[in-house]
Amino acid sequence: MTAPCSDCHNSKEPPTLTDDFQRKIDYVRLAVTADCNLRCSYCMREEHEEHTSRADQLSTEEIHTIINVLAEQGITKLRLTGGEPLLQHDIVEIVRRAKQQPNIQTVNLTTNGLLLDKLLAKLIDAGLDSINVSIDTLRRDRYKTITRRDEFERAKSNFTMLLESNMVPVKLNVVVIKRINSDELEDFVALTRDYPLIVRFIELQPFDDNQIWRTGQFFGADKIQEMLTTLYPEMQILKSSATQNFTFSLPNHQGQVAIIPAYTRNFCHDCNKIRITSTGKIISCLYGKEGIELLPLLRSGASNEAIAALFRKAVALKPENGKHAASNGVRTSMSEIGG
Ligand code: SAM
Ligand code: SF4
Repeated sequence: MTAPCSDCHNSKEPPTLTDDFQRKIDYVRLAVTADCNLRCSYCMREEHEEHTSRADQLSTEEIHTIINVLAEQGITKLRLTGGEPLLQHDIVEIVRRAKQQPNIQTVNLTTNGLLLDKLLAKLIDAGLDSINVSIDTLRRDRYKTITRRDEFERAKSNFTMLLESNMVPVKLNVVVIKRINSDELEDFVALTRDYPLIVRFIELQPFDDNQIWRTGQFFGADKIQEMLTTLYPEMQILKSSATQNFTFSLPNHQGQVAIIPAYTRNFCHDCNKIRITSTGKIISCLYGKEGIELLPLLRSGASNEAIAALFRKAVALKPENGKHAASNGVRTSMSEIGG
């Protein structure tokens, strides 16, 4: 008797995307656009090119096909990101259709929040499960310096509106940079007193066009943890997750604080994700330089099975330890791949 082909999936259970190192891939981060209404200095250049033509970008239908194929391959968790995903004209429709796919359990979004006043209610109505907002400072002058845009008031009022609405779980992403915002940890932690959000202090990663990375402003997770444990001896340490390396809460605070050692800790051993760029490249490893082009196949009228096979090929190429395999600073901007 011949052994069953691993590519044949006859059972009712969705198959799982598993790589050569037995890691189950159930999470996709999809960058719906590379455009952005900010220019965070650690992420992209002022001259970051906006996409005037949509020809090289995934269309709504193509995004929908990708989500369906991935869901049939065992992906259960989707994060929509960018660039700034709320600039994508059909973002609400993308959320709604993703939520209609029965295998997709959660649809989440990472955003700078500048368009939440216009879109929050619609996104919630479409079924969005959670929102991560990225705001690195609570001071107007610094916000302008970091993002190169004078949008602090809008970012702050939208973020407050989001927290007050209590409509959806919220995480706040704060990339900590020495001499830029490393003296604001207490101000961010204070937010957890009144709101049930998770404040996440994130290490800078060497993926930025400007290479702030090389200016000695890296502020490591060990340093963040040392500052926080000194400031808050009363902290209650909570169970951490794969990415949140150190999580705690304070007595009588509704929210939590976490540290993400994005650079100093190697998360490869339990990596469960792939990424897709807004131009339709499959990125199976954050540290890998090359992606696999999906767009030509999508536009050739290929069957879902052929598209699924390309995803299986991409997953098979996942290195066991991408961080070791890569040289420093391979990626020019996080906005390509959505963080
Ligand atoms: N524009 C959206 C936003 O800012 O939330 C989504 C895309 S952004 C690329 C996703 C996340 O990547 C943000 O939380 C951002 O702070 C983070 N990020 C960008 N460049 C980074 C870097 N060099 N190191 C660490 N995090 C970075
Ligand atoms: Fe835009 Fe997000 Fe990059 Fe800032 S971090 S420039 S908001 S994509």
